[in-house]
Amino acid sequence: MAAPDDDLEVELELGLDEPDDDAALRARVAARLGVAVATLAPIEVRRRAIDARRGRVRFHLTIGFAPAAPPPLGAPDPREVAGAPVVIVGGGPAGLFCAYQLARDGIASIVLDRGKPVQARRKDLKGLTRHGVVDPDSNYCFGEGGAGTYSDGKLYTRAHKRGDVRDVIEVLVRNGAPERILVDARPHIGSNKLPQVVTALRERLEACGVEFRFGARVTGLGVEVRDGRREVAGVELADGTTIAARTVVVAAGHSARDVFDWLAAAGVGLAAKSFAMGVRVEHPQPIIDAQQYGRAAGHPRLRAAAYKLVHQSRAPIVGATAAAGAGAATVERGVFSFCMCPGGWIVPASTEPDGLVVNGMSLSRRDSPYANSGLVIGVEVDDVAALGLRGPRAGLEVQRRLEQAAAIAGGGALRAPATRVTDFVRGRGSTTVPDTSYQPGLAAGDVGEVLAATGLALAPRLREALRAWGARMRGYVTDEAVLVGVESRTSSPVRVPRDATTLTSPDLAGLYPAGEGAGYAGGIVSAAMDGVRIARAIARARGA
Ligand SMILES: Cc1cc2nc3c(=O)[nH]c(=O)nc-3n(C[C@H](O)[C@H](O)[C@H](O)COP(=O)(O)OP(=O)(O)OC[C@H]3O[C@@H](n4cnc5c(N)ncnc54)[C@H](O)[C@@H]3O)c2cc1C
Repeated sequence: MAAPDDDLEVELELGLDEPDDDAALRARVAARLGVAVATLAPIEVRRRAIDARRGRVRFHLTIGFAPAAPPPLGAPDPREVAGAPVVIVGGGPAGLFCAYQLARDGIASIVLDRGKPVQARRKDLKGLTRHGVVDPDSNYCFGEGGAGTYSDGKLYTRAHKRGDVRDVIEVLVRNGAPERILVDARPHIGSNKLPQVVTALRERLEACGVEFRFGARVTGLGVEVRDGRREVAGVELADGTTIAARTVVVAAGHSARDVFDWLAAAGVGLAAKSFAMGVRVEHPQPIIDAQQYGRAAGHPRLRAAAYKLVHQSRAPIVGATAAAGAGAATVERGVFSFCMCPGGWIVPASTEPDGLVVNGMSLSRRDSPYANSGLVIGVEVDDVAALGLRGPRAGLEVQRRLEQAAAIAGGGALRAPATRVTDFVRGRGSTTVPDTSYQPGLAAGDVGEVLAATGLALAPRLREALRAWGARMRGYVTDEAVLVGVESRTSSPVRVPRDATTLTSPDLAGLYPAGEGAGYAGGIVSAAMDGVRIARAIARARGA
């Protein structure tokens, strides 16, 4: 049997109609290596990518040789925990993976989440989409599994630590995620499958002694001064109880604005950071498929097509104009597509009853007739300062302005203001809009005016970008596409500083800011990786 070493990989390119079953792939690999098929060791697909450039669709496969006894996925397993528990505020990807990694080292934790477990949370999501009712503790952002649970479940990340990315993906597969995410170049789970994975992760941890409490909103930190040093002493909950702890991880996500208030009240330093905001665009999926796949669009082996767009704009932005003076017209800001969801739905991701936020998700099959994507404009700290808004939490105020303007323009019950892309590019609103995946419904109007409520000139930059993209992608600027307001929660406008070595707050010993809300992640995988990083730092500090 030809048993090449584990590192040997064979790259294959397959056309749309070429077979890709094991026998066919073995034949191709054997031919490539110049050996008989019968003598070939078992093969495995290690990576699968699709290349649709210039309308010629090909699959690129990386084939390796399966080791005789592969190590178990997601090893090591969590084990029975003991000792003084770490308190983790937030059961999103950062908090959950922090607890998981701690349990691998046998360290106990209590995970507190303001929201509900996945099943009960599902009912509140119905309330949001069908009746426009926002529960500020249970919604698309808050609850078991955090914003990751009913998200789209795309697992791409810009993080470069391949071993750590692989570990997160393996743990997800170990807990019920589909195995194809181990090999897909652009892995995706889908919001129908994520809830089971999140539940399985929690149950595995509970079996090891990790405690989870839902409906447990943290409202403050206990602080003690020992030997002249400020240390965290525990957390206070909304029901008036307290939990004593010398180690507290805050992984509360970027939508929990109240968390920034109580962190500041406990003397924890915060810093403003750049972020992005804009709208969501929705096209009929066949338009995007035709753009990406050309004549191959509709082929049964092709999934709903995705796209990624970037444009650098120099159009004046009010903040930059004031900040940079006469040279402001040359200030460049990125306009980019964000969290593109092929075959997806636009969903209401509001967390406050007077503000409207939209986001996108899809099921694992990605089979809705629509393609949606965030289209957002970069906002720098200087832009916000030029509006006269100062301090580390100023960006939250700009987000709020946009969300409240959208809620008013939509007319209530989470209806979203919307403008046809063609009208927007011409600088005007719409009187009618096409059908949409957004269940609370759209209100035809002018999203340009909604964007202007921030005080920043976001609309001219987006207009310029859409013109450029329309010139590049036939059919992108069309009457059938609609801009839906607003996409305001792409990233946190606040960072909670931490020491580069200990990963603790320099202002409060024992406090570990983590995940997206603290400004150290953007997406499910990077938030999970940050949770793991924090757990390793805690284990180091405890000498575990
Ligand atoms: C609709 C939607 C689609 C998305 N699609 C994708 C995608 O396809 N791919 C991707 O990578 N990312 C996606 N994201 C973003 C992704 O979900 C987040 O980047 C990720 O979940 C951040 O993880 P986190 O653990 O840092 O915070 P979060 O997931 O936000 O979790 C924070 C948790 O803290 C809890 N909490 C907040 N305040 C308190 C408090 N005071 N007390 C107790 N608990 C508290 C919340 O209930 C929440 O469960 C999507 C987000 C949404 C909303």
